[in-house]
Amino acid sequence: MSEPQKEQAPKVAKAQKLTGVKGMNDILPPDSARWEWLEAQVRGLMARYAYRNVRLPIVEPTALFVRGLGEVTDIVEKEMYSFEDRLNGEQLTLRPEGTAGLVRAVVEHNLLYEGGKRLYYMGPMFRHERPQRGRYRQFHQIGAEVLGFGGAEVDAELILLANDLWKVLGLKDVRLELNSLGQPAERQAHRAALIAHLEKHSDVLDEEAKRRLHSNPLRILDTKNPAMQSVVESAPRLLDFLGEASLAHFNAVKAILDANGVAYSINPRLVRGMDYYNLTVFEFITTSLGSQGTICGGGRYDYLIEQVGGKPSPAVGWALGVERVLELIKEQGDALLDIAPDVYAIVPEAASLPVAMQVLQALRAQGVSAQMHAGSGDSMGSMKSQFKKADGSGARFALVFGAEELAQGQVAVKSLRDGQGAQRTESLATVPTWAHSLQSTL
Ligand code: ATP
Ligand code: MG
Repeated sequence: MSEPQKEQAPKVAKAQKLTGVKGMNDILPPDSARWEWLEAQVRGLMARYAYRNVRLPIVEPTALFVRGLGEVTDIVEKEMYSFEDRLNGEQLTLRPEGTAGLVRAVVEHNLLYEGGKRLYYMGPMFRHERPQRGRYRQFHQIGAEVLGFGGAEVDAELILLANDLWKVLGLKDVRLELNSLGQPAERQAHRAALIAHLEKHSDVLDEEAKRRLHSNPLRILDTKNPAMQSVVESAPRLLDFLGEASLAHFNAVKAILDANGVAYSINPRLVRGMDYYNLTVFEFITTSLGSQGTICGGGRYDYLIEQVGGKPSPAVGWALGVERVLELIKEQGDALLDIAPDVYAIVPEAASLPVAMQVLQALRAQGVSAQMHAGSGDSMGSMKSQFKKADGSGARFALVFGAEELAQGQVAVKSLRDGQGAQRTESLATVPTWAHSLQSTL
């Protein structure tokens, strides 16, 4: 039999480097630690408010967003990633927001059958926007939604929940703006007055506003065009068109916020970007992030469930932008979260690996975070280079599995952070008794 031939690597031209899609970011260490921390804070807080988690598909039928968000909205007109399923021709869209899909799922699975529900979600959303600080094409939202209850107390509860979240995250400089969009009939009366006002100032309306003047004039109030701010500011206020019931609802929300010490200001121009809202709408805004200062927005959407084909039920919710919240946390000078392991295992000879890895498993079982030195395949590397890696890992201790110590059933524990390199030995037979002394107190 001939010697097996050593396989030759096929010769290929150097592949061109591929890069990610513009506006879609990789979230890498050490930044990802912030994300995990934020998500953990959110989970804890949602549990304290008895909100339950849902995880929904990222792709939905395009019709859901067109019908749910409204045809004459920024998202539906220009921001959706839509495509045709090549196999069956279905029209699909990468979700640009979470509420429509959540309502679709609630209707599809009859979740309101047993009464109202308090739900939350976290995940990526997709909008084709011009990428800039705080504005990406794949971004992430955390949303809280209460379905099946029409009372002002759930509007207020959602605002208290968001407000608590800012406290838990240590955010300062976040203010709350509030408005009421009333009911469809009240909006109808306001609409005529609004169109008349905008027509009077048609010289300053941009193309988009002119196009929306008769299809969706309320949308014009949401414009970001600075040239149109004064005409928007002098527009008739929807608040002045509200009937008794709508005003009572608005006042009830405010009374609960007042009683709980939540400060807010009324912004009569606040309309939000989707058509599904009615009654209470709100945004949490910071001045620390430049023009992308809205970190969270929401409101009541009592007519969306029936628009998606469900039995009419009231609902209210909000969504926050994770990237903007994290940016604000950074802006306010958080200390970078410590993601270093507690110990780094140094193994001078490969023969000691089985014992070393057994000890590491025992330490991890005790809650110690342990990083194993990994060699090049042929050798473990010199002690010097292993210590260098140990230092670089940020670990507080090095465990040195030297042959001499191992022969006596021991391992050396060396402090890496006190500058003196204090060293002691511990018994391999009694890991649980000394494991905790290695754990970080952070
Ligand atoms: P904006 O007016 O800034 O475009 P929006 O009204 O379109 O925001 P919503 O649809 O209300 O935003 O989404 C809720 C939150 O999600 C926003 O307040 C913001 O924090 C975040 N968000 C929205 N779009 C983006 C994006 N393209 N990139 C990053 N975060 C975003
Ligand atoms: Mg937008």
